Amino acid sequence: MNRTADMVIIGGGVNGVACAYYLARRGMKNIVLFEKGYLGYGATGRCGGGIRQQWGMDENIILARDSVRMFEKLSHELGFNIFFRQGGYLILISDERDYDLISKTIPRQNELGVPAELLEPKDIASLVPGLNLKTIIAGAYCPTDGTAYPYAVLWGYAEAAKRRGVDIRLHTEVLIISRKSGGTYEVTTTNGTVHTPRILNVAGAATRNTASMLGIVIPTKPYRHEIAVSEPLKSFLDPMVISIRKGFYFSQSLRGEIVGGIGDPDEPSSSSTASSPEFLFRYAEALRKTFPALGKVRIIRQWAGLYDVSPDARPIIGTVDGVDGYYHACGFSGHGFMLSPVVAKLLSELITTGKTSIPIDSLNLKRFSEPGLTRDPYVVG
Ligand SMILES: Cc1cc2nc3c(=O)[nH]c(=O)nc-3n(C[C@H](O)[C@H](O)[C@H](O)COP(=O)(O)OP(=O)(O)OC[C@H]3O[C@@H](n4cnc5c(N)ncnc54)[C@H](O)[C@@H]3O)c2cc1C
Repeated sequence: MNRTADMVIIGGGVNGVACAYYLARRGMKNIVLFEKGYLGYGATGRCGGGIRQQWGMDENIILARDSVRMFEKLSHELGFNIFFRQGGYLILISDERDYDLISKTIPRQNELGVPAELLEPKDIASLVPGLNLKTIIAGAYCPTDGTAYPYAVLWGYAEAAKRRGVDIRLHTEVLIISRKSGGTYEVTTTNGTVHTPRILNVAGAATRNTASMLGIVIPTKPYRHEIAVSEPLKSFLDPMVISIRKGFYFSQSLRGEIVGGIGDPDEPSSSSTASSPEFLFRYAEALRKTFPALGKVRIIRQWAGLYDVSPDARPIIGTVDGVDGYYHACGFSGHGFMLSPVVAKLLSELITTGKTSIPIDSLNLKRFSEPGLTRDPYVVG
């Protein structure tokens, strides 16, 4: 391996490969990306592929909106079909508190260019026939939300980055990072050592571990989230259906499978990615109650991945005071895939020009040492 690089990227998830691509597109040379497993070994390869712009805070609405604009052109730009499908997102509302929140937020989403609307139960029934609406008082729907196939997004970005000269090293784990005099970093991996003036740390739920190699404290915690896929069914479901309150979601893939999951508010932080029968029972019950006709569908596969959760469930993106040439992006909870095109593009701007075209200062690590954290009420736990 080359003994020097202009940029080292740690992590072959969607943020790593996308940022490698945007940096190379901006003309940066000699970029090396290290991934300890294969592309998608972390959360990206385990994610539900959901992409929504319906958020409560401006920062998330704007980032998600701009990501959708990028997803719309991405297959063409990368020369790789990412299977992006704008079937919409339908948020089911079952109590007055959520109704108040969502009906107050939709006008702001509209002002920012997101075409979300409030639906009455009869409109929901015609959008998704078969939903059990007994406890549903309303819905929020955005037709330009959707899904993409996470591996296709990863492979598309990775192939395009490689064509522009990025060196992607799989099965290569970063073990030690140390600062050398003259402002460079020595990055020791399982396959050799590289010297570089710049590091981008996008190691998913392990970002805090790689940051700690430089004495940087990132207050994120990993949480297991499980997900399941059914046998394929004839296409009948356009939108991703979610309940923010229950942490429950399901959609139908282009292959006809029902892909969905449900969070467990009692799950302690851990790095376990084991599958559990308890999840299957909880998910099956939620699916059967929400869409009774799916009660008999056969689940063919389940797996788990890690949400990387910050204290306010908002991402941590940017630089760290006093650590020149170091950049990171982590803490994406269950929404890092949908934000990845714009986050990676903004990181590439920050790294090459010191500025970003959309302000991301509010997502700085420093906020955790200041009072008053704000959480987006649309976060699904
Ligand atoms: C079950 C589940 C469902 C989800 N559903 C959605 C969804 O519908 N929509 C959405 O937007 N988001 C979703 N997410 C969240 C989303 O998957 C993540 O936020 C996103 O993929 C994070 O991407 P990343 O590139 O930052 O990290 P990752 O994809 O985790 O990639 C980090 C990579 O770094 C590598 N790495 C770690 N340590 C080292 C090291 N020392 N050396 C080298 N490599 C290292 C890992 O192997 C990993 O491949 C879901 C997550 C899960 C678990």
